[in-house]
Amino acid sequence: MAGIAAAWTADLIPGQRAWRVVPESASWFRRAGNGLTLICALLGAAPDLDLMFVAHRTVSHSLGAVIFVWLFAAALAADAERPIVRVSLMCAAAYGTHLLLDWLGADTFPPRGIEILWPVNHEWYISGIDVFRQTARQKFLTAPSMLQNLRAIVQELAILGPTLVALWLVRVKALTGLASEVTRGDHAAQ
Ligand SMILES: [Zn+2]
Repeated sequence: MAGIAAAWTADLIPGQRAWRVVPESASWFRRAGNGLTLICALLGAAPDLDLMFVAHRTVSHSLGAVIFVWLFAAALAADAERPIVRVSLMCAAAYGTHLLLDWLGADTFPPRGIEILWPVNHEWYISGIDVFRQTARQKFLTAPSMLQNLRAIVQELAILGPTLVALWLVRVKALTGLASEVTRGDHAAQ
């Protein structure tokens, strides 16, 4: 959800975004920003792929990884002939939301937090604000763990859900105006 929020926020920034605009009659998927928004959603979750390895919350949860995503996305955008700065920063921001949310969340298992400054150093950082609750990964099929995770999910939805709805409403308004401008521009060009 945070990755989608990053994509939609980026779309609100004026500049080369006419290619992101579709008519109101288009499908929900296209109006939501197509495959690029989907990629941003996946990028927002991607850092936790490290759960499949031993080193959780290290390299994949660092600014080093954000820079890698940024450069990789820039190369793909250049190849696809899309606005390089816009697309690459959108993808990097989507990935970065994960780091921000993990930093804001509770983590009671030391080392607490994330190795955000890798490769500069291997220190662990956490805000200590505990905006998001601790989740349970061990014995997660037991009732107490399931209840704990359910609470965490509900809380995350309560915070990110309204944020996304608000962004969607602003998006519809902003991009609908832009769509009519683009159409008028096309007519004027003909
Ligand atoms: Zn994470």
